[in-house]
Amino acid sequence: EVGMLPYKRVLIKLSGEVLAGAKGFGLDMDVVLRICKDMAELAKAGIEIAIVVGGGNIFRGVNAEKLNLDRAQGDYMGMLATVINSLALQSALEKLGVPTRVQTAIEMKAIAEPFIRRRALRHLEKGRVVIFAAGTGSPYFSTDTAAALRAAEIGAECLLKVTKVDGIYDKDPSLNADAKLLKELTYEEAIKEQLKVMDAAAFSLCMENNIPIIVANILKESTLTKILLEGKKIGTIVH
Ligand code: UDP
Repeated sequence: EVGMLPYKRVLIKLSGEVLAGAKGFGLDMDVVLRICKDMAELAKAGIEIAIVVGGGNIFRGVNAEKLNLDRAQGDYMGMLATVINSLALQSALEKLGVPTRVQTAIEMKAIAEPFIRRRALRHLEKGRVVIFAAGTGSPYFSTDTAAALRAAEIGAECLLKVTKVDGIYDKDPSLNADAKLLKELTYEEAIKEQLKVMDAAAFSLCMENNIPIIVANILKESTLTKILLEGKKIGTIVH
């Protein structure tokens, strides 16, 4: 039945923010577990899953200056935040019986493997969920760019970006009541319109490597399984 699936290997980019749940900061393990249950279902159906998680629920580099920190230092703190989130996801997935590996872009061998592309591929082939932590390992990048980079490196057929918004709008929906959800757009349109769901670096990496991007709301019921198991067209596709 694997042949029927829309994508065999996917990279899921999960925003850190959603992991905070209603608390708005840190980790709400009920939310983590709920998301991981859907991921477990995908893994059990034979989809090869890699995950990049953000760190916005703990620390964002853009806030560094307000705290009288260097931007680069703040970015490293943000990357460490993604490691915390990655370990939480790993625990939740393994409680659900899904084998996982965390690979970090900044070496911390006592808690995770270093990022090694060929090793990540091997894990995926063996049915392990691979969680890529610490972003790209470099400051001044985002976890969206890390997601696009890893998606290209592992040959993912799709980058599924899940956050708490329904998709890409023609203008900021939090400021404009008449903002319209776009079902489909090209990479060029997404970059040119500066629609702010992803940075230009992430869009252009996907464009160069022909990786479609789907943006959808993870807080809605069964988003992951609807898109990746049932082939439903929800959210926005950029291709
Ligand atoms: N970050 C970085 N380099 C990377 C990825 C992330 O410096 O390659 C830092 C950056 O400061 C960012 C923080 O890690 O603000 C957390 O990631 P992000 O804001 O992308 O998380 P999200 O918004 O998805 O929760």
